[in-house]
Amino acid sequence: MPKKRGWVVINDEECKGCGMCILACPASCLSFAEDFNHQGYYPVRYSGEGCRADGLCFYACPEPGAITVHEGEPDEPHAV
Ligand code: SF4
Ligand code: SF4
Repeated sequence: MPKKRGWVVINDEECKGCGMCILACPASCLSFAEDFNHQGYYPVRYSGEGCRADGLCFYACPEPGAITVHEGEPDEPHAV
């Protein structure tokens, strides 16, 4: 059975840069950005590949709306 694929979207201004999602990600596809947001936190970045859409980063995140997980590929019409 093929592994699920997905991607994440990070809301830079909601992210507090706590790093919980980075620790939770088994695929090591999240890291800190080099520029801080308006609150002075370094938000998380998705590497652009490797996401398994398991949702672990979403469940680890204490900030509502900071990170969302999507299944499929970003350019697939059925991806949500
Ligand atoms: S959904 Fe899973 S694999 Fe994808 S970025 Fe989040 S923790 Fe990593
Ligand atoms: S867990 Fe949430 S608030 Fe913390 S770094 Fe990740 S996206 Fe940002």
